[in-house]
Amino acid sequence: MSKYCIFCGNKPQEKSREHIIPQWLIELTGDPKRDAFFGYHKPGTKGEGVRKYPFKHFTFPACVTCNTNYGRLESEVKPVVEKILDETTLSSEDMSMFLEWIDKVRIGLWLGMQQLDKNYLDVDVNFHIDKRIGQYDRLLIIQKTDRISPRINFGATDTPAFSYTPSVFAFSINNYNFISVSSAFLFSRRIGFPYLKEMILSPDSDEFSGELVNGIKRVMKPLIRRAIPNNGVIVYQPQFRNGMLRTEDELSEYNCDYVRTHALDYQKGDGNIFCEKNGVLNEYGSNDEINDLQGLPVNDDYQLSIKSIIEAHKWQNWLHTQLPDMKLLTLEQKKFVKSRFALATRVNNLWINKLEEML
Ligand SMILES: [Zn+2]
Repeated sequence: MSKYCIFCGNKPQEKSREHIIPQWLIELTGDPKRDAFFGYHKPGTKGEGVRKYPFKHFTFPACVTCNTNYGRLESEVKPVVEKILDETTLSSEDMSMFLEWIDKVRIGLWLGMQQLDKNYLDVDVNFHIDKRIGQYDRLLIIQKTDRISPRINFGATDTPAFSYTPSVFAFSINNYNFISVSSAFLFSRRIGFPYLKEMILSPDSDEFSGELVNGIKRVMKPLIRRAIPNNGVIVYQPQFRNGMLRTEDELSEYNCDYVRTHALDYQKGDGNIFCEKNGVLNEYGSNDEINDLQGLPVNDDYQLSIKSIIEAHKWQNWLHTQLPDMKLLTLEQKKFVKSRFALATRVNNLWINKLEEML
């Protein structure tokens, strides 16, 4: 796997190295030479116990062209992260870019962890950053803490759940904690966008299919039928780039006034930004200013940092309860899929118990 470009999945013509955790972020969050924690050594890999080494060694092969393209996103997102930390007003476009970058980090971490773990769970690594970035509805919980010293930290990335589907992870940048959740049609129906009537797992791959139907063309609250504990802001952005539905015709359900009105970039397939704070849902379109991130309540850092990681594990478990229909699968395949997610849920529950003891 290490021979392939982390962005496009091809063998690089001209090789370069991509830092999954960019240099600018490492510098923004402490001593650039410090050791970082990358989960635990897995059976069959070199070493035992905790995996620790400097961030700069966490690099992966990439084509020069891909690296240059994504380098642009890195340089554009840096000032956005600084704005968040400084509590300066963001534009909708800034927030959309931040969510895009989080997609990149989440998929990059997934590929990176698979490589470190030597893919011990035998997961089909069937997509790279290009294929997953911005494809699915995305949600981000943002919370602030009273932390003074800088840091960067990632949570819920060393679990079988994350290995099977990199849909949820927690991370901290200095005194901010984030939980990122991204999954196909996560809230498209309740936000009024087209959605899949029935999501059906394909017997030949990890992909799914289904009949795309017209949206209900209004917002139904709550956007997700799961209580989301937070005392910060929840950001939602519906996505309809839908790599799985490629033809114009298949995407025609999106060609309506409702989607156009609620799209930040219709051509690209990005929806508007929705922010939920104190139970109030605000929508932000093109060039709108987002002020919801200002004056967030300040939480105890120790408590919140543990709670965020617990919450990320719970989100992973919740997604295991929302699996697509398996009617096209053979009995054997059904058993296999179910046993995988049962294992992932079990491991997560062990982690949740362990973390709760620390509170
Ligand atoms: Zn490439």
